[in-house]
Formats: sequence, structure tokens, C-alpha cells
Amino acid sequence: MNGYADGHCDTIVKLFEQKQELFQNDGHLDVKRLKKIGAPLQFFAIWLDPQYYPISMRQTMKYIDFYERQIAKNKETIGHVNCFADVLENKKKNKISALLALEGGEALEGELSAVRIYYRLGVRAMTLTWNHRNPLADGVAEEKSYGGLTQFGREVVKEMERLGMLVDVSHLSEAGFWDVVRVAEKPFIASHSNARSICDVPRNLRDGQLRAIARRGGIVGINLYPPFLAKEKPAEMADILRHISHMLTIMGEDSIALGTDFDGIDSTPGGIRDVGDLQAVFACVEKEFGAEAAEKIFSKNLLRVLEEVL
Ligand SMILES: [Zn+2]
Repeated sequence: MNGYADGHCDTIVKLFEQKQELFQNDGHLDVKRLKKIGAPLQFFAIWLDPQYYPISMRQTMKYIDFYERQIAKNKETIGHVNCFADVLENKKKNKISALLALEGGEALEGELSAVRIYYRLGVRAMTLTWNHRNPLADGVAEEKSYGGLTQFGREVVKEMERLGMLVDVSHLSEAGFWDVVRVAEKPFIASHSNARSICDVPRNLRDGQLRAIARRGGIVGINLYPPFLAKEKPAEMADILRHISHMLTIMGEDSIALGTDFDGIDSTPGGIRDVGDLQAVFACVEKEFGAEAAEKIFSKNLLRVLEEVL
């Protein structure tokens, strides 16, 4: 494995709430374990528990401040990235790259200016919704409402693209997804979603959606949450390979990436305890689909999108 790039984890919020440290903790990943993989790139998402929606921006500020302080504490081994050159620079210094993301447009509190302010604070990706309806769009839990992007949601997508922020459609309703296809001009991502025709849950993507993301040059990050990998049984390595195999057929090998959802999920597939076990997953993917496809899935595809959008 020559590289590792993961488009989604919930480590920051978990550490904040549990008063733990990024250097070492009892969750799915920390600086100590990431370091063993070399110089990986890790997205750190800030997710808001719905209880915080009335104070979305204030709570997001607390998490961003915590993220910054944790990165500063480990500045010899991990560096925040604002642009693609930062990723290359960190790699040269054998440092981990950290990309700050928001999970849910709730954090904007309906303010377009907030997109620009968050950008200045270092945010480089945002999922438009979490599961529910927000000022931007409907989330996947609103499936029966058939709502897509609002006018505000369209403006946010355009502003994100203008600034160089990655638009993330994981958690977004289907109608919202197709609105993004119409509004977005750059590659966009589904940072942590799987194939719905393999595991039929609303959080996964239909074949048409997978195809649309691939056509746009974006990526879909494989989510390790067992219920999103297999519906009727506990998920294992073979289920990850099944999703990849299907996605390869639908999208080709340039549009699959990783979006582990580490520290946001309460269980993991059999044989995978934490980020340290991703080497073993890589070995299986390499054996099944070849070294070139494995390297693309594990890092190159996501890096390509970052280079294009940031
Ligand atoms: Zn999520």
C-alpha cells in the first residue's frame, strides 16, 4: 500500500465529547496509528448531534477550535491542508494530512456568508445535509417528502465550488442528489456511501447515482458501517469486496475511494477493528482486483479529486 486517503471519520466530535486526545485514544484512529501507515490523508468531519441544531454555528466553532488545537499539539506529525500543494508538502515531510470537513449544512444556519467564513477557517468539504431536512435540502430520512435542493442550497453549492470546497452528497435525498448533478459544474463526492443494489438502504447510492458521480469525475467512498455493507447478516471482508466489485462494473476504477466512517460507527466488519487493519483490507482488494485498482481506491482517486477541486 503506497498511499491511504480516507474521505470520512467522526473522530474529532467523538474525542471532544469524550475528552480524549488525537495523539492516542481508544477509538478507531489516532495519530499514533495513522503514522504507521506512512503519510496518509484523513478527512475529519464535524458532525452535529440534532440536539445542537438551535446552536449549530456555536457548536461547530467549538469543534473547529478543538480540531485546530489537536492538530497544533501534533504538528510534527500531522498538518492541516488548505490546498493540494499542502498534501504534497506533508507527504514530502512524511506527515499525515488532515482535511477539515463539515457533515451537514446545518452549520451554516441559513447564512451564505458562513460558507466563506468556514472556508477561511480551513473547511474544505461539506455534506449538504445530514439525515433530515435543513435550509439547503432534504436528507435521506425525508425520502417520502421528495424534496431536493432549495434555492439556498443551490447558492451554497455554487459558492462552495467558487471557493474550492468539495460538495459531498452522502446523506442527501435522491431528489437533492439529482439537483446537485444539475447545479454542480465540478466533480463532487459521496464521501461515505455504498452501492444500494448490493445493500438496499437509503444511505447507499443507486446505480444511476454511482454512474452520475463517475461521469462527473467524482468519487464514492466505501463506508465500513456493517448495516450499509450487508443487510441480512454481520458484514465481513467479502461484503466490502462485493460492493467494490459492483462499483467497478458501474463506475470503473477511477471513482471508488474510502470513506470509512471510523468513530462514527458503533461496529465494524468482521476482521476490522480500526485503521490499523486497513492494510489487510488493501491486501484483499489487491488480490481480487489488482494492484493498480487497489492503489486508486485506497488513495489516488480521492487525491485526484482534491487536486482538481481545492
Ligand atoms: Zn455520516
